[in-house]
Amino acid sequence: MSKIDYYELLEVTKTCSDGELKSSYRKLAMKWHPDKNPGNAEAEMRFKEISEAYDVLKDPQKRAAYDRFGHAAFDGGMGGGGAGAGFGNDFASTFSDIFDDLFGMAGNRRGGGGGGGAGGRGGRERGADLRYNMEITLEEAFGGKNATVRLPTSIVCETCSGSGAKPGTQPTSCRTCSGSGRIRQAQGFFTLERTCPTCQGRGQVIEDPCPACAGAGRTTRERTLEVAIPAGVEDGTRIRLGNEGEAGLRGGPPGDLYIFLSIAPHEFFQRDGADLFCRAPISMVTAALGGSFEVPTIDGDTTKVKVPEGTQSGKRFRLSAKGMPVLRTRTRGDMYVQVVVETPQNLTRRQRELLTEFDAECSKETHPESSGFFAKVRDFFAGEAE
Ligand SMILES: [Zn+2]
Ligand SMILES: [Zn+2]
Repeated sequence: MSKIDYYELLEVTKTCSDGELKSSYRKLAMKWHPDKNPGNAEAEMRFKEISEAYDVLKDPQKRAAYDRFGHAAFDGGMGGGGAGAGFGNDFASTFSDIFDDLFGMAGNRRGGGGGGGAGGRGGRERGADLRYNMEITLEEAFGGKNATVRLPTSIVCETCSGSGAKPGTQPTSCRTCSGSGRIRQAQGFFTLERTCPTCQGRGQVIEDPCPACAGAGRTTRERTLEVAIPAGVEDGTRIRLGNEGEAGLRGGPPGDLYIFLSIAPHEFFQRDGADLFCRAPISMVTAALGGSFEVPTIDGDTTKVKVPEGTQSGKRFRLSAKGMPVLRTRTRGDMYVQVVVETPQNLTRRQRELLTEFDAECSKETHPESSGFFAKVRDFFAGEAE
């Protein structure tokens, strides 16, 4: 098995420093992280490869061995199938490393909410996730859609590039807490530690705040995003757009944007998964003699439904592949049309005569169900009398 050189994978030179190695790894890990590339097998592969490479090169002993012997340095102990299992463990630990590294801010954020997270790393904070509710029509869910989303959101301040400090100045270490973010206070026998009130635990203060963002490192702007909504989405579908949430604070990573789709009720169709249901009234005569009628379909076309002679009210007809598309396939669900026989109303004298005349001609053969039913009712009362 030929493997790509670890230095090449991490896009660094053989003489790079630990710092360069780490920053290049972070950059690549951010880019190929599975969370950022859902369903992308290549990204997952790349992420595993760079994680494996970094796992070796970050360790001075392993790096020295690798420099001398190459990949052979690590093949001996766990050849063949064992390599997979061994790698799996390593991968898991590396994975959690990088996860803490990249997304560890979330932990601080949670602590911060309760009053007094240390803030860490100069007060960087991951931006908040945003939720955007969007209602689309059933027709749009059928065909898919490129939607334009406008949302007010905080973005990294362009004036200070997110540092919060006036351009040309730097945040300075907080003098109250000497940069630790915590202060100690003696109270009787006890020493209490609490979050530094001067810097709110960040360890740094901005003496000359950026005039554009008042030191927050981010400003509010209306953003426009194009979102591709795939054909066949269902009510309640959530689409995640990584890094499109609020900008982080003071250089922290951005949050994610979640689009929650709801599908507006349709005047004609009800949906169940990929199948569509509708009801169509037909006349008593069509039901009795047979015939056909046209119904609209979700693709904007119409289709003919054939009604055989003697069709009863409530009968359902299936129109194959006239339903909704099934996500990520080329197939479509079915459409079901339920006919409802409409009883004639507001009859003229002539129409009454015709129906009365027709009724006189009716028999068990024309109405097997109702004659059967009334025969049973008769028998039932006859039984009671005895
Ligand atoms: Zn600014
Ligand atoms: Zn402080």
